[in-house]
Amino acid sequence: MTVILSVLVPTPAHSGVGGPLSYLSEEALPKGTLVRVPLGHRELLGIVWDGETEAHAQAKTGLILRPISGVLHPLLALNPAWKSLIRFTARYYQRSEGEVALAALPPYLRELRPEQLTRRLKRKALAVHGKTAAADLAPSPGIAKHLPPALPKGLALTTEQEAVLQEIDLQKGPFLLFGSTGSGKTEVYMQAVQRLLQAQPTAQALVMVPEINLTPQLEQRFRERFEPWLGAGCVVAMHSAMTPAQRLNSWLAAHNGQARMVLGTRMAVLASMPHLRLIVVDEEHDPSYKQQEGARYSARDLAVYRGQLEGAKVLMGSATPSLESWHHSRAASQEKPAGRYVRLHMPSRMGLSALPLVRRVDMNRQPRRTVFAGVLLDAMRERIGLGQQILVLLNRRGYAPVLHCPSCHWKSQCPHCSAFQVFHKLDRTLRCHHCSHTSAVPRACPECGDTDVRAMGRGTEQLEELLATQLEGVRRPDGAAPRIARIDADSTRTKGALENQLAQVHAGEVDVLVGTQMIAKGHDFRRVSLVAALDTDGALFSSDFRAPERLFSLLMQAAGRAGRDAQWSEQFGHACEMWVQTHYPQHPLFEALKRHDYPSFAEKQLQEREQAGMPPFSFQALLRAEARTQDVAQSFLKAVSLAAAELPGADRLSLYPPVPLGIQRVAQVERAQVLVESASRTALQQFLTAWQPLLRSARTQHRAVLRWAIDVDPLVI
Ligand code: ADP
Ligand code: ZN
Ligand code: ZN
Repeated sequence: MTVILSVLVPTPAHSGVGGPLSYLSEEALPKGTLVRVPLGHRELLGIVWDGETEAHAQAKTGLILRPISGVLHPLLALNPAWKSLIRFTARYYQRSEGEVALAALPPYLRELRPEQLTRRLKRKALAVHGKTAAADLAPSPGIAKHLPPALPKGLALTTEQEAVLQEIDLQKGPFLLFGSTGSGKTEVYMQAVQRLLQAQPTAQALVMVPEINLTPQLEQRFRERFEPWLGAGCVVAMHSAMTPAQRLNSWLAAHNGQARMVLGTRMAVLASMPHLRLIVVDEEHDPSYKQQEGARYSARDLAVYRGQLEGAKVLMGSATPSLESWHHSRAASQEKPAGRYVRLHMPSRMGLSALPLVRRVDMNRQPRRTVFAGVLLDAMRERIGLGQQILVLLNRRGYAPVLHCPSCHWKSQCPHCSAFQVFHKLDRTLRCHHCSHTSAVPRACPECGDTDVRAMGRGTEQLEELLATQLEGVRRPDGAAPRIARIDADSTRTKGALENQLAQVHAGEVDVLVGTQMIAKGHDFRRVSLVAALDTDGALFSSDFRAPERLFSLLMQAAGRAGRDAQWSEQFGHACEMWVQTHYPQHPLFEALKRHDYPSFAEKQLQEREQAGMPPFSFQALLRAEARTQDVAQSFLKAVSLAAAELPGADRLSLYPPVPLGIQRVAQVERAQVLVESASRTALQQFLTAWQPLLRSARTQHRAVLRWAIDVDPLVI
């Protein structure tokens, strides 16, 4: 009997074909089955999907339907929960289901013909057939008998850790674990996973980390603990630095249930895990959870959604939670709606020395153009002499540059907004990215007439060299000259470079490590006793309203790198220190940092955000356009903004005028954007969905526009 199947294929983002296509099949196949189908002259991987109505409509138009070309039989069908997750992701982030679904599968799977896959599965002995899957996975009775003695021994938990795990057991969540750096959050994750895997013989857990380079250490820790208990292959990794074959193997193991735990970066949130019962999001505040191309999803937000959808508990952890999550975990009170997340607190650092003393260097009292203040250099020299390590943190992450006057602290504030105007080098203008107000760059400071007006934050490439000169003559305890290393995106481009550099730091071969935010995350440097942060002020007065949040979190994380080894700290005989060079030593951000007081910083930021109607009190989306000229990009944006006035939801949102992006030209392509903002998420969603067809047809009229894309809940505007 021939049937018509709806099959989801990866359709190009702008084709307008979002739904599944119809194919003929000799057998009825369950939804979620992976098939090979012809499309044009190619053969593609597709997924049997819902959508009878479209199929019938297509059949009625008299189109000749083509038969599918194969079925990936050995694989279980993707389950309904996974399909719902894909559907939600596509709808919420304004992409096609086909694009999202197929991008969520391992690339190598898209190339394999059914017989190749079968051979592969046989070889790997991974084949799992139909309904027997669950039974195969359950431990055999013989093994079960031996389970209790083989249980991994975790560390003896502290009272705080035990209390947190009990809450997780008792409540539904989602949970926000607010724990200091070094409070033992990782151990909580491990024991939460262990308790689940022990209680439910088929259950699966997903643990997400923000950075690929943090996975190997963590993977090893989970393996060492779980493999002796659950067998080899119970933990698999999932991230983009793996080979296509490795990624396929991990995906298959997760999909057929053999892998009880997946450890991965943001992409893992869309992995097929039929028995998913727990999702851990480590360092949940990290911007890397946001995908920056294709479907621009937030893996943290999707984790929360997925947890709800599949009945999995969600545990997010951080020493500096995102303001969104913090807000969602605020206690219920008279004025505020009940918090959605359960906040769990672990304030104590694990057997480590206290958090470092924060020292602010007032750069107003330093000679002009000072890079390293004299007092800081003295402190560094002393530490090197004692054989201790130093981290120098450069906060030069692409903040849009704001103009300022070092003499009187005038800044390029927008006269119409609570935002700062951004310096555009190309045409030497100042522009507000909120309201698009534009003015010429002043030749002298409008307040005091100083001609030394300049962009905040400086080019820091020569910093490493400068430091070498300034530390000349200093000696380590062994009489050798100090060794300085630099870690940033440039120095770690080649494969393995970062690992090598980190290994050198761990081995004590490096005395001073200079780097960007890459060095602040997660690494466990034992001998660091001094952390210095330079160029912090740009983030205090950035056009990006999230810049202070990021700066605070970066500084807290960096401070957490110091004094990680209690033994060393005692030996040092010196308290660990975090130095911050700033022109604004009295700024509330630094006051809170000095007290290591994230909650008061967060409350203050949230009050400001609420007053200004910024997220999480409003919802945003960006429409970005790319074209040969700025004019074309902006006229496209203007046209589609005008045409949008009547769309559903439009009356409940603000559509701001087009502005060029901070970095407005990349590789000969001009970029511009429009910000959409609403107090209602529903109105914003309604509007964006209605806007899409209009954008597609407008693009065909504006032939010169190369591309447009929507970014929902953008992290940088
Ligand atoms: P976090 O992830 O919160 O920054 P970690 O999980 O890295 O902290 O823990 C910091 C250190 O404390 C690690 O070396 C870890 O092995 C150790 N640790 C964690 N829990 C315990 C415990 N219950 N007993 C002893 N040491 C612990
Ligand atoms: Zn001035
Ligand atoms: Zn403005």
